[in-house]
Amino acid sequence: MGASALPDPHAPARRRLRVALLGESLVDESAMSILVEAALGGPFERVQPNLRARGWPSVLQILPAIARHLHFNTDADGLVVLVDADDSEPHTAAHEAPGYFHPRCRLCQLRASFRRATKNLPPARGRDRVLRAVGLAVPAAEAWYLCGRDEQVGEAVWAAGREAGRAPYTRRELKLRVYGTERPTLPQAVAHATAAARRHARDLRRLENDFPGFAAMADDLRAWDRALAPRADGSARGAG
Ligand SMILES: [Zn+2]
Repeated sequence: MGASALPDPHAPARRRLRVALLGESLVDESAMSILVEAALGGPFERVQPNLRARGWPSVLQILPAIARHLHFNTDADGLVVLVDADDSEPHTAAHEAPGYFHPRCRLCQLRASFRRATKNLPPARGRDRVLRAVGLAVPAAEAWYLCGRDEQVGEAVWAAGREAGRAPYTRRELKLRVYGTERPTLPQAVAHATAAARRHARDLRRLENDFPGFAAMADDLRAWDRALAPRADGSARGAG
């Protein structure tokens, strides 16, 4: 659609961002959509990726193809990726050091994969690159849904348990606490996940505080404004 060149006098100063979501399941993506909107501070237009993932290895495998597809074939401004940590390394502040990369941290792995897939792409569709935001749910998205409701659930608790060699809870227990069953139907799971996401969307601070893997994603999203600002002014691309 090329009609976006003329500014709409009734539109807010900033046009709606076009965002693709990549999660491990439809349930995760339905909750992500609400959390992403809250972190961006407004609604966005959803861009469909060309592939769907089911589970962690598949997200990592298809990420490069999705990044290239969004860059060349869509007008997407950004891609948001969210995976569960399961038993892998949680992302910590130490991983944010310049040039550092933790090979067993899925968030670091996804960032590196996206960087490799996109760093040499030529500009396309009037932009240098598609932005990215990556989140890591420790150990699973269900922990986010319990945040603020179950005081025993949080990344610090999880990390302390890992160090002591004994997980404070299992993923099955989290599911049971969120859904009331270990095997919810899809509508049940979506209803619970989106209700929790809407609760957090009213105020993200608790989720950001208790789950650094969410804070990383929210920080990425808030930085998009700055990254896109030159284009919104019509002053073409930044330094690149
Ligand atoms: Zn990391």
